[in-house]
Amino acid sequence: MVSGPGGVGKGTIVSELCRRNPALWLSRSWTTRERRDGEDPDAYVFTDSATFEAQVAAGQFLEWTEFLGNYYGSPVPDFDIGTHGRDVVLEIELDGAQQVKQRHPEAVLIFVLPPSREEQERRLRGRGDPDSKVLARLKKAEFEEPIGREVADHLVVNDDLMDTVGELEAIIAGSR
Ligand code: ADP
Ligand code: 5GP
Repeated sequence: MVSGPGGVGKGTIVSELCRRNPALWLSRSWTTRERRDGEDPDAYVFTDSATFEAQVAAGQFLEWTEFLGNYYGSPVPDFDIGTHGRDVVLEIELDGAQQVKQRHPEAVLIFVLPPSREEQERRLRGRGDPDSKVLARLKKAEFEEPIGREVADHLVVNDDLMDTVGELEAIIAGSR
């Protein structure tokens, strides 16, 4: 599981990690938030609240949560975790990560930190997030980071992207 504040680079990191390591299976989450301008239409299954809630009721999520006013959830993978020689990668926030830890204590939680709050803000703005979202995500980060430091198995600062991906590869190899 890769977690960390908005704009720290989680999406960028996991996509490069999975591109380099075909034995990793990147879970595609569902969300009720709007797609951002320029965002890959396949980044999530974009859906509405009623459909999401029906999926929850049907037990279709490994974990789900509400984050900044929207639902996010990871569908239960359609293969038995651990039996296909593939490791599942979840890019999720901390509440969901803790739910997964309860169901799968062997799951490894990596919390990614920005080099600084200023750099996090620069990345959020560079990605095109509007002011209101940037402020909400920076505020949320102040709350999330101390919890992340406490509950994570590993902390990684995402300064240089390729170094970060290398660090994650080393953590995965060590955990295997
Ligand atoms: P998150 O998924 O954590 O919200 P993103 O993956 O969308 O973050 O990254 C936010 C922005 O930061 C993107 O524009 C991305 O290209 C950029 N970014 C990611 N990692 C780095 C890095 N190591 N150095 C500089 N920019 C980065
Ligand atoms: P964003 O809106 O920036 O794509 O995501 C907001 C937050 O939700 C990020 O911290 C991201 O990791 C998290 N997230 C994305 N998908 C899921 C999911 O399926 N479950 C949970 N719990 N969090 C998710």
